[in-house]
Amino acid sequence: MATGFFTDTTVCIGCKACEVACKQWNQLPDDGFFFTGMSYDNTLDLGATTWRHVAFVERPVPLSGQSTGFGDFSWLLMSDVCKHCERAGCLEVCPTGAIVRTEFDSVFIQPDVCNGCGYCIPACPFGVVDRRPDDGRAWKCTLCYDRLQDGMEPACSKACPTDSIIYGDIDELRVIAAERVETLHGRGVTEAYLYGVDVANQPGTEGLNAFFLLVDEPEVYNLPPDPVVPTKKQLQSWAGVAAGTVGMLAAAVGAVLAARRSS
Ligand code: SF4
Ligand code: SF4
Repeated sequence: MATGFFTDTTVCIGCKACEVACKQWNQLPDDGFFFTGMSYDNTLDLGATTWRHVAFVERPVPLSGQSTGFGDFSWLLMSDVCKHCERAGCLEVCPTGAIVRTEFDSVFIQPDVCNGCGYCIPACPFGVVDRRPDDGRAWKCTLCYDRLQDGMEPACSKACPTDSIIYGDIDELRVIAAERVETLHGRGVTEAYLYGVDVANQPGTEGLNAFFLLVDEPEVYNLPPDPVVPTKKQLQSWAGVAAGTVGMLAAAVGAVLAARRSS
């Protein structure tokens, strides 16, 4: 069964319980305790030891239908994660077969097979995969594969107090997400839309198994507006190389024939 996450950013309260639960369950080391000065965000981004990241975006614009009482201002909070793409760039370029598709349709890096070549890092259009400096191998969210095998949901969604992160069957999540968008539109939050919900919505990745409800442009959340898996362009690249080769051969043959004629 294909499973994943639906993250409704409009009910995230920025408590970071998801970040902490992920760190704790997966025994990920801390990233150092420092003050970034970037709002309440001291994690900054996803990395080899940070598989959940709660982004804090402060905007000088009010959310439709809402008044903060403090002028034009609104928070955008989003718990980011590996998208477990339907067509995953990391998986397609991995030369050792370390990255596999599981029975839950998630994308999993087998640590005992990864050789640390790093090909997966530029192949991810979301900048998710990262290598640990201490062991050189690539790491990212596993969708709590060990918990799923024991019939439990991932630690982050279990810990989320507002159900901003919901884990479940992807088809059911799509229905829940569509209903939520409709509800928000009815309440005046007309900006609400789904990001990566299916192949029609995001052809470059053929849809995401971890998709989001957003209320502003993807770039505002540090998400690419039109992510494309690099291997999708492979055919075009080879066609370009073939056309170039044929052109060079034709030019060489032409040059030889011209030289013969003149001698
Ligand atoms: S988001 Fe990146 S790391 Fe996650 S499955 Fe997609 S390509 Fe791989
Ligand atoms: S646990 Fe839920 S509400 Fe808290 S930061 Fe994470 S997604 Fe937001």
